[in-house]
Amino acid sequence: MREKIPPNHLVVFGRPGSGKSTLAERLGSEFGYTLIRTGELLRAAIRRQDFLGKRVEAHLATGDLVPDPLIFEMLEQHLKAPGMQKFLFDGFPRTMGQVPLLEGFEKKLGFQIGAYIDIAVSHAEAVARMTGRRVCPICGATYHLIGKPPRVAEICDNDGARLEKRKDDTPEVVEFRQKIFDDYAVPILRYYQEHAPERFFVVDGEQPLEAVYAVTVRALGLA
Ligand code: AMP
Repeated sequence: MREKIPPNHLVVFGRPGSGKSTLAERLGSEFGYTLIRTGELLRAAIRRQDFLGKRVEAHLATGDLVPDPLIFEMLEQHLKAPGMQKFLFDGFPRTMGQVPLLEGFEKKLGFQIGAYIDIAVSHAEAVARMTGRRVCPICGATYHLIGKPPRVAEICDNDGARLEKRKDDTPEVVEFRQKIFDDYAVPILRYYQEHAPERFFVVDGEQPLEAVYAVTVRALGLA
């Protein structure tokens, strides 16, 4: 049997609360992927209160999507030709309009996405999980009170900062963000399933995190 060649560059999809960011962080640290997380890049811009941050703050607060041209502008500044780096996109593309943006970056910077991974979780399970979510205001690391607790309660393992609830994790915003996922991400998943079936993987995200990780690693041929 032919050995499966692990993909260099990945995109991870999953509804808010699916555990995709935790999975992305682990794939990043164990297999050397460089995480490109549009949500975290936007939150960092808001923390800095720079020009981009001021323009996107209201969108993130309500759970609404940031317009495609701003996402393009931000990634255009952030992304450099990967060289030896392996990219892992978390949170992009988020609309059908962003699909050609990713294709444009692939062409321009000379890389190709080797796998699209959909961490599939039901709406109800995702909502339940989002209430336990915490994030570090300094480094952006994500935790979960049950799924991935910090070593010391409410304190970041990396820098000792007190963890916070994300501002967009209120019940109304949580519901709204689920709806946004249903409206915008479902067509993207369908698109990749049809156009790149050999590179498209669905992983059952309702299993314990450890199993989600193990299944993903196996599916991608990483171990
Ligand atoms: P996340 O951390 O991926 O859950 O993203 C948090 C928020 O950032 C989302 O609710 C959107 O408001 C915004 N956001 C992140 N990535 C994108 C994107 N690719 N396109 C539009 N808005 C985004």
